[in-house]
Formats: sequence, C-alpha cells, structure tokens
Amino acid sequence: MENVKEWHTDKIIDRTAKALRARQFDVLSFKKREDVVRALLQQVVPGMTVGIGGSVGLRDIGLPDLLKGKGVVLLDTWQEGLTSQEVLDLRLRHLTCDLFLSGINALTEKGEIVNMDGIGNRIGAISFGPGKVILVAGVNKIVPDVESALQRIKRVAAPMNARRMGLPLPCAESGHCHDCQSDMRICRVLSIMERRPSTTDIAIYLVAEELGY
Ligand code: SF4
Repeated sequence: MENVKEWHTDKIIDRTAKALRARQFDVLSFKKREDVVRALLQQVVPGMTVGIGGSVGLRDIGLPDLLKGKGVVLLDTWQEGLTSQEVLDLRLRHLTCDLFLSGINALTEKGEIVNMDGIGNRIGAISFGPGKVILVAGVNKIVPDVESALQRIKRVAAPMNARRMGLPLPCAESGHCHDCQSDMRICRVLSIMERRPSTTDIAIYLVAEELGY
C-alpha cells in the first residue's frame, strides 16, 4: 500500500525545491536526517573554519560533535563555559568563516526564506561574508507564504526558543506571541530572502523529516 504521508511530504519538498531554484538558490533534498548529515560532512575539510548559527535542528542531528571529529575549526556559540566576550568574538568570526551552517525559521513553498533574530548575527552571516552558507530545513519549516512564515515564527519558533532559553518573556509562558515590549524580546531583526543574495554562495538542504522548531 502506498505511504500517503511520504507521498505528500515529497510533493511539498519538490515544489519548494523548484521554487527555491527559480530564486537562484542551490537546493538538495534528503529523505532522512542521516542523509543530510552525510552530505554536510562531505562539505568540510580539515582546518577550515566552520560557524554554526543558533539552530536546534543542527544540534538535534549531532552536527557539532561530528564536525569536531573532522578537524575543522568549529565556531560554536552554544559551547558551555563561554564568556559573553567569547560569544561575541565567535559571532564576529561567523561573518568571515569558510562555511556557515544554520537552520531556517520558516521557508515558503514560493521559495522565500524567512528568519527572525534577536541580535542579527545569524541573518548577517547567512546574507554576506562566509565563503559558503548551507541552510538546513526540515519539512516542518515549510509554509505556504510569507504571512504564514511570520505566523510560524511568532506562534511556534519564537515561543519555543524563548522557553528553551529560559527567558522571562510572555510567549515563554503562554506559547504564543504578545508583541511584547520587553528588553529581553528576541524578535528584533526580520529577514525575507526573496532571491539568493547576489554575492553569497547559499545552498538549501531540505529534509523530509521534522527538524528543530
Ligand atoms: S515579540 Fe515578544 S512575545 Fe512575541 S514571540 Fe517575540 S519575544 Fe515572544
């Protein structure tokens, strides 16, 4: 019997990949998280500097530890024990690293990539600077249009990230956005990539599984 869920997911991935390519992004699609891990590791060579943006999905697939085993210079702001100055230095180095890896908050079936940052460092690094950028997204990040992407960020991604970080924000309690005026607000810088930034080598790796939030 046909696996209808798999068929439906494949259709979503296929039309999103086609739309992204029409907007000049390189796109690869993968069935399983193991497949995307293998492909990511094939992109690195010993000694290269690899930055990782704040992404639950990339941590879920165990990427930081796997990269350490590849002899790269890993620029990971989620390492334990870093001072705030060390985190800042790593974020600055992300802007000029050889390879920057990040998740995506939401992407549309029309090929637009939508991200919201509190600081803006991730949006900066995926837009301009690194030698290469690879953005990894599970099928759960794909939505029909920009309006849905913004809703996804405010209803799902931001509240869950606020909760994960233990921030005293209303969304971290209620699970949805209150358009807060808090000094701790994490929704500050919005990026909608309508096309591949003209001088940046960006590939999008789509996975037919749920990854991160
Ligand atoms: S604007 Fe404030 S309440 Fe809304 S999702 Fe962002 S941090 Fe949470």
